[in-house]
Amino acid sequence: MIPFIDLKAQQARIRPALDKRFSDILNHGAYIMGPEVSEIETILSDYCGSKHTLSCSNGTDALILALMVKGIQAGDVVIVPAYTFVATAEAVAVLGAIPFFVDVDPHTFNMCPQSLDEGIRAARAQNLPLRGIITVGLFGQTADMDPLTQIAHAHDLWVLDDAAQDFGATYKGRVAGNLGDISTTSFFPAKPMGCYGDGGAVFTNSDAEFEILKSMRVHGQGTDKYDNVRLGMTGRLDTLQAAVLLEKMPLFDEEIDMRQVVAARYTQGLEGLCETPFVLDECVSTWAQYTIKVAPTQRATIVSDLKEAGIPSMIYYAIPLHLQKAYCHYPRARESLATSEMLSQQCMSLPMHPYLEATQQDAIINEFSKIVEKSAKAA
Ligand SMILES: *Cc1c(COP(=O)(O)O)cnc(C)c1O
Repeated sequence: MIPFIDLKAQQARIRPALDKRFSDILNHGAYIMGPEVSEIETILSDYCGSKHTLSCSNGTDALILALMVKGIQAGDVVIVPAYTFVATAEAVAVLGAIPFFVDVDPHTFNMCPQSLDEGIRAARAQNLPLRGIITVGLFGQTADMDPLTQIAHAHDLWVLDDAAQDFGATYKGRVAGNLGDISTTSFFPAKPMGCYGDGGAVFTNSDAEFEILKSMRVHGQGTDKYDNVRLGMTGRLDTLQAAVLLEKMPLFDEEIDMRQVVAARYTQGLEGLCETPFVLDECVSTWAQYTIKVAPTQRATIVSDLKEAGIPSMIYYAIPLHLQKAYCHYPRARESLATSEMLSQQCMSLPMHPYLEATQQDAIINEFSKIVEKSAKAA
């Protein structure tokens, strides 16, 4: 079986350095907020160009912290795309606020500027207390930030950019992690920059927000954690996870380049067999996923035939958020978010990681081509 994501090849490169890092931590014993934590925060800030990085427990808590520092309260409304991982909307909902769903673009899979505009007008017409929007860089490509930010700012809304999947991607020369008024990422192991457990970060250019975020990360601490001046959480990144990131970050640019080679090979090999991914001009994707579109009637067969041939594939996301049981009662820009609904039927993702070998990839492409031709004949 070809792995969907292979973390072993990468680990072989950094294993001796990691062993040394872990051993150092076992010796110094600062498991919580050890020196590795501030070390990685500096490196992450330098990497994406954000003034401050607050490392934290995971990408969902990063979103919650970002919403809290923006002052989100129960009843407030935040616009989110309907086609994303659930955490984007969940972070809003767990604070008692209201996720308002808008549609995505059929090519980039990211928030559609027209649908955002329509959503804002619909929310305002209902007198809903709109506060901000959350953009997402789905599958590794940034959202089209310029028009989205322009629309949001014209309506006095802030932009929180959820860069869990596209941290390190570039948008017209700017690096994801520093594309929103505030941004977040996740270091879940399967993300392009992942640790070996849970982790995340909030990025801000505001000194004042950073001070509050540091307090919120430790129970809203004042002078110390037994002086509680606001609400917060247990939101720290483990020292051991910071160490993993410290060894992985130096490889990141090279790995993003390697992902371009893998993506280009797929795109060339799959041409004419399915709809291959589209990347905006002047943008570089981190290829968190290589996601293609196939005929909805053929998708299940393609997935199961690939599996039989030892090739894993994944469906992200089979149910758009506005149709999920826990979210279908929240408001949306219009009754049917047609593109999100269509993509949830068409999309599937193929094995993707920087160390995918050309021979393995060619085997995947050959198998895919056989299956698609067979199912086209059957249809
Ligand atoms: C993974 C992910 C998150 C949440 O990250 P966790 O670290 O798993 O909490 C949030 N948003 C998006 C778009 C994601 O893909």
